[in-house]
Amino acid sequence: MSEKPKSISDSQDLDLRLFATAMDATVNGIVITDNRQPDNPIIYCNKAFETLTGYRHDEIIGHNCRFLQGKDRDQIQRKVIRRTIEEGEHCNLEIRNYKKDGTPFWNQLVISPVKDQEGNVTHFIGVQNDVTRRRDAEQQLQTEKELLETRVVSRTKELQDSEDYLGSIVETIRESLLVLDDQIKVLSVNEHFCKFFKLEAKDVVGKLLYEISDSAWDVPELRAVLEDILPHNNPFEGFEIEHHFPKIGKRLLVLNARQIKLKGKYKDRILLAMEDLTDRREVEQRKEDFITVASHEMKTPLTTIKGHIQILTKRAEKNNSDADLRSLAVTNRSIDRLDALINDLLDVSKIQSGRMKFNLTEFNFMEVVHNSVEAVRETTDTHEIVVTGDASRTVKADFFRLEQVMINLLTNAIKYSPSAKEIGVHLNILAGFIKVAVTDSGVGIKREDHKKIFERFYRSDNVQFSFQGLGIGLYVSNQIIAEHNGTLWVESEEGQGSVFNFTIPYVTL
Ligand code: ADP
Repeated sequence: MSEKPKSISDSQDLDLRLFATAMDATVNGIVITDNRQPDNPIIYCNKAFETLTGYRHDEIIGHNCRFLQGKDRDQIQRKVIRRTIEEGEHCNLEIRNYKKDGTPFWNQLVISPVKDQEGNVTHFIGVQNDVTRRRDAEQQLQTEKELLETRVVSRTKELQDSEDYLGSIVETIRESLLVLDDQIKVLSVNEHFCKFFKLEAKDVVGKLLYEISDSAWDVPELRAVLEDILPHNNPFEGFEIEHHFPKIGKRLLVLNARQIKLKGKYKDRILLAMEDLTDRREVEQRKEDFITVASHEMKTPLTTIKGHIQILTKRAEKNNSDADLRSLAVTNRSIDRLDALINDLLDVSKIQSGRMKFNLTEFNFMEVVHNSVEAVRETTDTHEIVVTGDASRTVKADFFRLEQVMINLLTNAIKYSPSAKEIGVHLNILAGFIKVAVTDSGVGIKREDHKKIFERFYRSDNVQFSFQGLGIGLYVSNQIIAEHNGTLWVESEEGQGSVFNFTIPYVTL
């Protein structure tokens, strides 16, 4: 049953006790000061205030609230509190206070005046709330924000610097460059592109690549490779396009493209580079034409000379003129060398134009080995050619072309091993293939040249000036072996000799 008040004062007393209990139940620290007494002492504090400050009840009552500020007296909020008290106003602020043990805490303080009927401030009620955690979190957030801002500033600067750097590279490059988006729309072009195609950037930027330059780039194969770059990060190189462009005429271009990876809100882009091959191809073509014409022109007089040398040799034989015969033999060897060089050059132009013909017949591969080894033995008295193994199988091939390959490998082996005495030819029958390995212990070939030596006119640095040659033999041999469905390759180290291997399929009877 609830307690019934007996008189007015009884009921006031009950109210006060109820309020006091309620105050003790709150989590906020509450104090009441008496403004009518000197130095505005605390006359009431609730439990939460004791807990908050660590002071006992008897250490609080009768004191001015300033003990909460410890020695920290320079805070700007103090002035606000002083003015609030002087003016009898209301304030709400956050101030750094100190617990009894000296621990600082952030106090969210609300001060409200209590006035009598005449309007005089009799009391102040102070409500305190420890907001240290929130302040710490805010402070941490602020520090992180500032840190982030500094990082953003420096990153933006870095990006700006690298963009300027990239920009200057893109502009200096003597190649046309375009940046495309995922729809193959042109986002930017460099100065070289505009100059080369005699276009202005504004005519191109924002358009689909396929629409510009008279639809020169609207080629299905190009579309396919371009549109595959971003989805699969699949770059392409060496895509050739020949087109009659407006203002600049017919041009042969080679295109390379790759993905540019961008972070954040930016989508990945495509960098498309175009190189003009027109002039280079023309020069190459002229060189090819010259080699073909020159070798043809040399071939005719050489055949005449050869014929006459034969007549002179017969005459010298009849006259038993040994001196003449010796001179004629030397001349004949030189003519044969010249003839072989011209034939090599003619072969190159035949390969280039796809005119090399192969006369396929069936024969035992050992015949090629014997013929070529014998032919080369006749030309050397410094090296011995040692044949091991077996390759007695029928092949369907061009006899003379295979002989040409063998002779080429053997003469190279002799030429590039001047201080050696022996050249090895090892023959092997593998599953469906004959394998030939020509071994020498000569100058060898460095690893990075193992592929290049099969290119036309390529000669390694270590032989360039010390050995004669045109750099054609291996190119032609490689084509011949490839035409016969075999492979030609080298195993070698510089200074350690070389092994040239080739395979050729045999006919299973
Ligand atoms: P050439 O011998 O006329 O230069 P090749 O096409 O026959 O032309 O050979 C190309 C290059 O390969 C040579 O210039 C040389 O650098 C290298 N080469 C070929 N055979 C050998 C070998 N047996 N030993 C070392 N290097 C070789």
